[in-house]
Amino acid sequence: METTGKGVSMTEIRVCVVCDYQRGFHFSVKSDENGHHLVLICPSCGQSYRPGWQLTLAAEHLEKGAVYE
Ligand SMILES: [Zn+2]
Repeated sequence: METTGKGVSMTEIRVCVVCDYQRGFHFSVKSDENGHHLVLICPSCGQSYRPGWQLTLAAEHLEKGAVYE
């Protein structure tokens, strides 16, 4: 992933520009009056990023799925 200043290139979103962790992000969903937005969270340093990806939630509550080992 290329970094320019404090911004993040959209060609590949994988590397944390704060701590250089390179194996991708956890994600969370932030909801506000404008809708639901995906938030990326670095699993190493905790820095969050808001890439502007708006989500449509198909269910009001989370359903548990498979448990992967
Ligand atoms: Zn980080």
